[in-house]
Amino acid sequence: MAGSDDSFDIVIVGGGPVGLSFAASLAQSELKVAVVEQQSLERLANPAFDGREIALTYASIRILRELGAWDAIPASDKSPLQGARVLNGSSPFALCFDSPSGSREPLGVLVPNCRIRDALFKIVRLQDHAQLLCGHSVVDATNSHKGAVITLSDGRRLTARLLVAADSRLSATRDLLGIGAGINRLANSMLICRVRHERVHHQIAVEWFDHYQTIAMLPLTEGVSSLLLTLPSNEADRLLAFDDDLFLTELTNRCRERLGKMSLASTRHSYPLVTTWAHKFWAPSAALIGDAAIGMHPVTAHGFNIGLSGQKQLAHKILAACRERRDIADPDMLQKYESWLRLSAAPLYHATNILVGLYSGEHPAARLARHAGLRFAQYLPFVRHGISAMLRR
Ligand SMILES: Cc1cc2nc3c(=O)[nH]c(=O)nc-3n(C[C@H](O)[C@H](O)[C@H](O)COP(=O)(O)OP(=O)(O)OC[C@H]3O[C@@H](n4cnc5c(N)ncnc54)[C@H](O)[C@@H]3O)c2cc1C
Repeated sequence: MAGSDDSFDIVIVGGGPVGLSFAASLAQSELKVAVVEQQSLERLANPAFDGREIALTYASIRILRELGAWDAIPASDKSPLQGARVLNGSSPFALCFDSPSGSREPLGVLVPNCRIRDALFKIVRLQDHAQLLCGHSVVDATNSHKGAVITLSDGRRLTARLLVAADSRLSATRDLLGIGAGINRLANSMLICRVRHERVHHQIAVEWFDHYQTIAMLPLTEGVSSLLLTLPSNEADRLLAFDDDLFLTELTNRCRERLGKMSLASTRHSYPLVTTWAHKFWAPSAALIGDAAIGMHPVTAHGFNIGLSGQKQLAHKILAACRERRDIADPDMLQKYESWLRLSAAPLYHATNILVGLYSGEHPAARLARHAGLRFAQYLPFVRHGISAMLRR
């Protein structure tokens, strides 16, 4: 459809998992697509382990399968999640989420973020419709009802009928488009690494809201878990600076022997926690997807799941517009995309933020409230089954 070398139907800024999924979702069209990624092609082609183990829902697995990415992820990188336990402080009580009785189907599957990126990169690279423009960031973008002009860091200018920002929760493209966002910097960071441990995890995840720290243990292969420790950012920085031995001693003490004897099984990574919700998910000739639209707190493990379903929704609308020879940047269509995403993501986004507030408060009333909340939820089967069903949807 588009003409000269630098003119595209769609320019996607950001070759992260959502930007690449979106590019792959457009493969059945004749649209000329560019993916602009600031990392080099070499780094995009060989994504390094970044600590994140993404808990994928069934809906996400279905989308990745449709894109051809699911089968490109080695089976050894897929760890089933058979259940989850939520603990509060030193109380032995656990809120349990399990597969429905009699079913051996897991609640979801954990896959390293780098393997998802790798699989999607391989798919997009094999497709003719999309060009990967790597090693350049977007430094300017202007938009009007007629289209968008994007300037790269090497001075190259691209034109597009539709500009799609997928450049993370602190999206520079979102700012350039003049779209505001509610940005909440939580002053906490999540420290992540894999550990090898003595005790068996039975593929059950543990989310433990302890005093002044939250620890999540995600079961990977036998005897190996991903450990996620949420702490005030200055405390996380202090631990990150420790040598391996001291770091391990600190982890072992903080886990209070829950996993038995441990040893480090990966590099360590730290993520300052920031949640974002863009005020609009579109502008004339432009749309936001993935974390650029909604950056969730990782505690409920849903940011990518939401981003993946959102990009599918937008791609679906664009493909229908192509088939019916309508404009791929039609404002009504973009507004429908926004309404859909708002409705489907808002309950989980707000519930997650309430949960974070409740579980990071150290006031005795907050401690009591979460203790009561866990017991209440345990005796309301529809709450537990509802959450389990949502994961398995
Ligand atoms: C610790 C942690 C654990 C998580 N666990 C889960 C989980 O279990 N389940 C789940 O669903 N989600 C999880 N998430 C969320 C998930 O990682 C994100 O939602 C997902 O990575 C968003 O993908 P994205 O492509 O939108 O953005 P990103 O992954 O941030 O990718 C953005 C891309 O844009 C590029 N870029 C940025 N700026 C520019 C620019 N100006 N020009 C060009 N390129 C640019 C970047 O280099 C990057 O490649 C977790 C997040 C964290 C931090």
